Amino acid sequence: MTSTSAVAFGASFPTQFTTSTTPARCRSKDRRVVQWLIAVWLLLSAAPLASQERRIAVTIDDLPAVSVADTAEVTFITTMLLEALEAHGVTAVGFVNAGKLGDDPTLRGIRIDVLRRWLAADHALGNHTAFHLSPNDVPLTASLADITAGDSVPRALSAEVGRPYRWFRQPYLHGGTTDSVRTSIDSVLSSLELRTSPVTVDPKDWLFAAAWRNAAATGNASGTKGVEKAFLDYAEAVLAYHERLAKTLTGGAIPHVLLLHANPMTAVVLDRLLARIHERRYAFVSLDEAMQDPVYARPDQYRGAVGLAWLQRQAMYQRGVRIDDNPLPPAWIEALAGVSDATVHP
Ligand SMILES: [Zn+2]
Repeated sequence: MTSTSAVAFGASFPTQFTTSTTPARCRSKDRRVVQWLIAVWLLLSAAPLASQERRIAVTIDDLPAVSVADTAEVTFITTMLLEALEAHGVTAVGFVNAGKLGDDPTLRGIRIDVLRRWLAADHALGNHTAFHLSPNDVPLTASLADITAGDSVPRALSAEVGRPYRWFRQPYLHGGTTDSVRTSIDSVLSSLELRTSPVTVDPKDWLFAAAWRNAAATGNASGTKGVEKAFLDYAEAVLAYHERLAKTLTGGAIPHVLLLHANPMTAVVLDRLLARIHERRYAFVSLDEAMQDPVYARPDQYRGAVGLAWLQRQAMYQRGVRIDDNPLPPAWIEALAGVSDATVHP
């Protein structure tokens, strides 16, 4: 049922009554009943539209950039990402690896200015640890210290402009493989008044970006274009997969959280990716708004070693829900990237 049919109905229905031959008092009563019926009709016809509105929050990890070796490249990535986000009215959260700022005063200043550009463009910053250490791979003390060391810069920069600072993103989506590690991490995050931001849609842009960089290194423009197209198709397939998983787990749609990284390929394709997502009838919302959905209040019981997305973590503890049918990146992308994406196999 569409709003168009509701409007057509509302426009024609009262006319039949006002032209009837019933007494005036009855006509007045009838009119009130009809108005009430129309109001109910409009409400009922609008409700499915509201519930059908798809929402997604955008998050960009590894700021100031995945690789900070080339300052010109970092500037290019930042400019392209910010322009694409602005063009689509997206307010994102950028998760910072403060360790990438380095100790060189000049380079550190340049990289901090990059982070300030994100804030100036109305985005928020989050803590993604200083050196991207996985709690699944390093001693607990090192992991906790990495969270603390990654906190001061994004916190101070956010405070400078009065921007809320409240999100943490796990490196590799790793959350610790034991209850005791998880409890310790949660305790540190709680003391910092940070909340872990889950991810639902992880299109593995880091993998495609590696293939893209290798294609670019050979000077093969059609090769990079092919990687970009493969990435856009794969990202949409991953989104569709998580839409289905959300319906299985919650009975409906949820606001999704998209994970991307500050790398050259994502900078180049972000405008097209956001356009594809918008064509899929998504509205872009803030991470804060997305996190208000009850699905994100569910406990995260997953203690496995693989960095699963949020719905997959939930599905692990629901009988009969498959999570091994997620789309896989094309084999030629893995070959071109020179890395295998083990994380797609739970
Ligand atoms: Zn990361």
